[in-house]
Amino acid sequence: MTPHTPPAPHAPAEGPPLLGEPLALEFVNTHYAVRGALRDGLAGPGELTWWLWACRERFTTDLPEETLRHVGPADVVGFQQLRDAARRLIDARTHEHAPDQRDIAQLNRAGGLGRSWPVLLWNADGRPAAARAGTCSPLLECQAELAHSTVTLLTCESIDIKPCLAPGCVLYFERNPPRREWCSPGCGNRARAARHYSRHRAPSD
Ligand SMILES: [Zn+2]
Repeated sequence: MTPHTPPAPHAPAEGPPLLGEPLALEFVNTHYAVRGALRDGLAGPGELTWWLWACRERFTTDLPEETLRHVGPADVVGFQQLRDAARRLIDARTHEHAPDQRDIAQLNRAGGLGRSWPVLLWNADGRPAAARAGTCSPLLECQAELAHSTVTLLTCESIDIKPCLAPGCVLYFERNPPRREWCSPGCGNRARAARHYSRHRAPSD
């Protein structure tokens, strides 16, 4: 549990979607598209800081204000490389093709970074509380958590991952209910409009 809420960093314009998917999917969905143009929601320290802040309640790792204030270019590269490897592995699973062994190695390396454990605090109000202590920086702990979440996602038989079928969308979602075809209602509307358009154009083309 985060001991206090860090202040909101500056939100990027048309930033990456947060659709309430499992954390690993939210992470790979930082590679997204706006009106057909691909975007990187972890493009720089500002974007990464915002994303971590927006997801802070979903990490076990505490992300104190001090950590979020010092996100740098090397952190960006670490998260981007992990995200891209995780994305390719999810793509390999959903399209049933062989994964790149380098991506598996990258994921497993990141998963081994975290070394944290719960510690007991006794608050001034007389109540016991749990916090996390660790040997790594919180940002490496977060990368480890994302790697662990990706392993669960890829190996859990009951999780059905699908790429969104809407035109121009590059997001993944967990298919639940089982017939869902789109990542969001907005994509569903766009896909239905595109189908309607192509059906009505077909005879004259
Ligand atoms: Zn979509």
